[in-house]
Formats: sequence, C-alpha cells, structure tokens
Amino acid sequence: MKSQPVFGGLCLLTVSFMATAAGGAHEHGVAHLSLVQDGRTVTVGFESPLDSLVGFEHAPRTDTQKQALQQARGALENAAAVVSLPAAAECVLGSVTVELPFGDAAHAGHGDHDTHADADAEYVFECAQPAALSSVTVGLFKAFPRLQRIDAEAATAAGQGKAVLRPAQATWSLPVAR
Ligand SMILES: [Zn+2]
Repeated sequence: MKSQPVFGGLCLLTVSFMATAAGGAHEHGVAHLSLVQDGRTVTVGFESPLDSLVGFEHAPRTDTQKQALQQARGALENAAAVVSLPAAAECVLGSVTVELPFGDAAHAGHGDHDTHADADAEYVFECAQPAALSSVTVGLFKAFPRLQRIDAEAATAAGQGKAVLRPAQATWSLPVAR
C-alpha cells in the first residue's frame, strides 16, 4: 500500500469516501468529516445528522425551528469558523456548498415523515503550499453543542489517516510525509 503511486490511489479513495459519506451510519451526536488533497486543491466534506445540529429532523413547524435551520446554515457557510487550516499552507477558500433538508418552502408542507435527515457541507480550498497541511482545527463543536464526536478521514499526498475528534480534541493531525 505505502509504496503505490500516491495519485493512483487518491481517486479511488475519494470515491470510497463519498460512498462512506452517502451510506455511512446515521448516529445522533456523531458527524463525519473528510479531507482530500489533490495537488493544490483541498476538499473538506462534512456530513451530520440534522439532529446533531438543530435537535430535530422533521420539517420545521415553529419559528424557533425555522430560525434554528437558518442559524445552522449560517454557521456551516462560515467556512473560517468550521475549518481552520495552517496559515503556512496558504489556503484560499474557493467554494462552499451547504445542503440542509427542509430548506425551501416546497418541502415545508410535507409534514412529518418518520425518517432521519442529514446535513451536508463541502469546502474547497486552493492551497499554495499543500505540503504544510499538518493539521485541521474544527470549530464545529462550538457551533453545534449537540455534536459529541466527529469521525474524520484524510487522504493527502503524505498518506491516509483517520481520527476521532471530540469537543476537547478539536484539532486533527493530518498524515505527515515520511
Ligand atoms: Zn436521525
């Protein structure tokens, strides 16, 4: 594994991340984070049960619930507060995509289906010095107190890594080149 060409492995790994994210376990209080580096492009993906962010998973019924969804969207769109990359990596945010269920009025009338709902966010950075990507600090636990754990996976030019992040351990050490 370790001696195989780095970029041959990365694409496959990206696909497996996506598969994991799409079919991953839905456990309240637990979210998933992925970081994939492809050259200078660094993509950070976040997936969480909606319950972990706002405390419910049905279409909003009250103004308070509508506000909670708006606040969650605002918090996720604030990329600088969600993920902090080392200054030495010289990363510039390229795009932010946030997908929350029940966000548009067309869905508001559907009422309660007794199902789960997930929130997704993706952040794409361009990093001039990607080799300096030694760690990521997440602000997600501060923004979302219901969140207890984030299972994180990374694939960078330096290798692959996994980590479990918690409110008291919100900094993730990325794989280091050897
Ligand atoms: Zn759920």
